[in-house]
Amino acid sequence: MRILLVVALCTALVLCHGASKSMECALCTVSLGLVEQHELQLKLQQKLLEKCDDGKNALKKTCEKAVGKIIDKLLKKARPETLCNKMSMCDGYEQCQLFPQWPLESLPSSPKEWPVERRKLLEGIDFQGDDHHVLKEWLTSIFRKHFVSANDEHPNFYTWARVLSSVIQDLHSDDKETDDGLKADDGCDKKDINCHIEAVAEHKPLQDADGDLYSSKEAELRGTDWRGTDCDDSNGSIYPGRKTEADGIDSNIDHNCNSIFGKNDTGSYEQQFCQDSQQRGLIMLGDSATAHFHLPPQWLTADGWNLNGARTFDKNELDFPMCSWGTGHVSADKCPYQYPLNDVPEGEIVSLYTLMRERNLCNNNDFENVGVNGARMTSSDSLINAMARDKSNDHPALVWLTLLGNDVCNGHVGTDHMTTPEVFYDKAMESLTKLDSLLPPNSYVVSVALFDGELLYDTMHAQQHPLGSSYSEFYDFLNCLEVSPCWGWLNSNSTAREQTTTRAQELDAVYEKILSTESQNFKNFEYIYFKPQWKDMFERFGKEYGVDALPRLIEASDGFHPSQTGNAVFAMDFFKFLEENHPEAIGPINPHNDEIRQMFFSA
Ligand code: CA
Ligand code: CA
Repeated sequence: MRILLVVALCTALVLCHGASKSMECALCTVSLGLVEQHELQLKLQQKLLEKCDDGKNALKKTCEKAVGKIIDKLLKKARPETLCNKMSMCDGYEQCQLFPQWPLESLPSSPKEWPVERRKLLEGIDFQGDDHHVLKEWLTSIFRKHFVSANDEHPNFYTWARVLSSVIQDLHSDDKETDDGLKADDGCDKKDINCHIEAVAEHKPLQDADGDLYSSKEAELRGTDWRGTDCDDSNGSIYPGRKTEADGIDSNIDHNCNSIFGKNDTGSYEQQFCQDSQQRGLIMLGDSATAHFHLPPQWLTADGWNLNGARTFDKNELDFPMCSWGTGHVSADKCPYQYPLNDVPEGEIVSLYTLMRERNLCNNNDFENVGVNGARMTSSDSLINAMARDKSNDHPALVWLTLLGNDVCNGHVGTDHMTTPEVFYDKAMESLTKLDSLLPPNSYVVSVALFDGELLYDTMHAQQHPLGSSYSEFYDFLNCLEVSPCWGWLNSNSTAREQTTTRAQELDAVYEKILSTESQNFKNFEYIYFKPQWKDMFERFGKEYGVDALPRLIEASDGFHPSQTGNAVFAMDFFKFLEENHPEAIGPINPHNDEIRQMFFSA
């Protein structure tokens, strides 16, 4: 029915493992916690009754009766964990609780109209008999549909989030959207989900007729939301970042898609305005923070519940690269909510790209976001492979290698699945060496230290999650199921958090070692290591906006990623670091900016 919604489901190889029992339990508990809100119960009832009446169900009356009993239990506020256990969807994980307090004792102050009915618990919920098969069938059918293989050993938070989104989308039964956009562009049958997944599994644009790794019109599926627009998708020598003009291309053609073209008696405008400007592209290689993972909190709260943009979001792997701290390039109204910031004009977002562009308008449109949910140093090779940069024909690049957490973050208990410093070193050197072989001369590569994940727990644990439990409870629930995006840092156990920080510091030390012993060996780029002072950054924000404003920096739905507001703060802080310490990496301010603006960007 909605192939597009899950097309990009397994775009990272790490996601393509399939189902697991613990994720089924997470899905059941969270969706029923969500469903126990009036409007969604009605939608669910309708959805399940459709199942009874699909022509295949011989026992229609029995089925309808069972649906009635389920809805009755939900209306009576049955505890989600109890219902999921009853349906055997939490076998082996019966002890995992998302809602230790149920019904909730206190309600979140925001959003304002949280459903107060959730406080009430009616007596007399009957758990005898087997009335749950329809509900279970519905949940599991959606769940199974979205996994490539049913033998997953590696449950993954991002896969779980995606399946959750498809469950609530399925509840949106009035949604009669037709499948469009994909058609046969990727050579796949519309309904062949696995084929679509394969097509974007390399993190390259799906629609790219001339094969230059830039797309012309498709925003999603690794298109123009992720990298600059290809202004001629029928010519593989015309694309963002191109330096040399190919044969047959004159100055009347915008050969590098930066919107500067044409000539006067002195020569071409590109020569006059850009040739000596040290223009360069921006390339972000990283994880879900780089891609700007965002699960809209509106999907998890009753008040104002909606699925606006769900199709688009899913085609972008639930990421918002066009709003991210690296490659954000759209207006604020196309992005997740951003709290007002003193240094950012209302209606605008700020990113490394917008700052690079402002500095030199010749850099216009020259950016790439190769952020992949779940990426870590051990998978960085696949990020580099997805990068577009021609060593001989393109401008230099400023490359950021920002793997902020997955080398210490995963759903497994303990430290066994964290990357060791030895492996981290080997893989980092492999990746940097490869970058050195691919990048044009005079490029820059910035390795960013891991995030200080203790800030997450410190900031969020006592806050209330959109689902109603505390973040501490939410984190521990995901840990209990081993589907947390970060067992080590999102954990009420302080020893676990400290252990994780220790490992993160050991990995940071690897970058320092590379800087001191290897960096002079790279031929085509200058190597920069950047260790953001994360605590200071949070403290400064707290001083400027108040300590109560600190949770604004972190995603509400997962309590893990930087929020839209956090993205802006990251961008400004990171850019400032280069401005103050490595101005050569961002290049000079172009003295022709005003002329360029007037001639090409004034409309
Ligand atoms: Ca293209
Ligand atoms: Ca092209």
